[in-house]
Amino acid sequence: MNAVIDIRPAPGCNDAPVLRERGQREVFCGLTGIIWLHRKIQDAFFLVVGSRTCAHLLQSAAGVMIFAEPRFATAIIDDRDLAGLADANAELDRVVTRLLERRPDIKLLFLVGSCPSEVIKLDLSRAAQRLSRDFSPKVRILNYSGSGIETTFTQGEDACLAAMVPDLPATQERSLMIVGTLADVVEDQFRRLFDELGIGPVHFFPPRRSDELPAVGPNTCFLLAQPFLADTSRALEERGARRLSAPFPLGAEGTTEWLRVAASEWQVNPTRFANAVGPRRERAGRALANHRLQLAGRKVFFFPDSQLEVPLARFLSRELGMTLTEVGSPYLHRAHLAPELALLPAGTRLSEGQDVERQLDRCRQDRPDIVVCGLGLANPLEAEGMTTKWSIELVFTPIQGFEQAADLAELFTRPLTRRLKLVA
Ligand code: SF4
Repeated sequence: MNAVIDIRPAPGCNDAPVLRERGQREVFCGLTGIIWLHRKIQDAFFLVVGSRTCAHLLQSAAGVMIFAEPRFATAIIDDRDLAGLADANAELDRVVTRLLERRPDIKLLFLVGSCPSEVIKLDLSRAAQRLSRDFSPKVRILNYSGSGIETTFTQGEDACLAAMVPDLPATQERSLMIVGTLADVVEDQFRRLFDELGIGPVHFFPPRRSDELPAVGPNTCFLLAQPFLADTSRALEERGARRLSAPFPLGAEGTTEWLRVAASEWQVNPTRFANAVGPRRERAGRALANHRLQLAGRKVFFFPDSQLEVPLARFLSRELGMTLTEVGSPYLHRAHLAPELALLPAGTRLSEGQDVERQLDRCRQDRPDIVVCGLGLANPLEAEGMTTKWSIELVFTPIQGFEQAADLAELFTRPLTRRLKLVA
């Protein structure tokens, strides 16, 4: 296994120059995170305090008609509120009271701020404190902002998890926390692997139920499962936890190295590590081989959108042989991405932030085989004859871990094959 992995500080792209873009942006707002967060925390409810636009965004991002009792909704701020004619706080209290009376299954309620609630300066943190006094201990009420001003869509999860950190119980116990929403199936696979490696206790954050909040303290180590959790990471560090620096668990290599960092912290015997990880890694490698045949040598261009761009680029270049034309990311968190940047081919064009017209010009010039971008850019680029992959799909789909490595590759082979068939 060691023969094919080299994560020593390589020239890579750690010191590479970065194009910093500060122009027009084409991104979704943090409300989008509610779609995967409400599936994960099964007794939570997300009440967006926003406009009809926010409600439409949520419905279209959810992409489904909801027949069961929904676990997110929008309390619409109307013209009277915007004009300051109504007491928005009293109205919000009424809405929350009605909701919690009708839905005793809700144990954790998030008041989610939006552009309109920020425009009228509705103080949701005070509202959450006020309502908590009325409804605790039956219901815990927290708040965070999903507003679209200067954010990207994955920051909603970061804001949500950071809001939960002060509520985590304190502990002195030595433990590992996996931070970032993972599909339940992926979480179960990782739990089995950590058990086999003898690493533990392991807690996942966010948990599946709000009464299973993991404890945190000076002997907690945490591994990020997602690269967009800067505020959550900082909040955990303020509670005494220590971040383990690792590549992200995308692809066979990323997953191996992510696990290796935890194994080294727990001083797992190398033979035990090889026995648990080796067969899974080999299986993942075999499943990737067919995708490599189709993707090797193809060019990929990343527009900045999800903050997953750097780990994805590393996976596509190192495990599937793709050529990186540009890797754009809304934010390049140098510290969190250091192990990833070290693995990118030297000379990769990196950009941070967005200036959509300039990036479109570079993309057209590069003529990539596939473009990873937000929904707003995908249609126009397809109309120009380019093949696109929606970055949001990469957040909604389980892509982490060995068993999902080929599924992740398939998200790139499928649109290319479809385009080839259309052309043929
Ligand atoms: S929070 Fe702002 S950007 Fe997001 S849907 Fe509502 S109005 Fe639009």
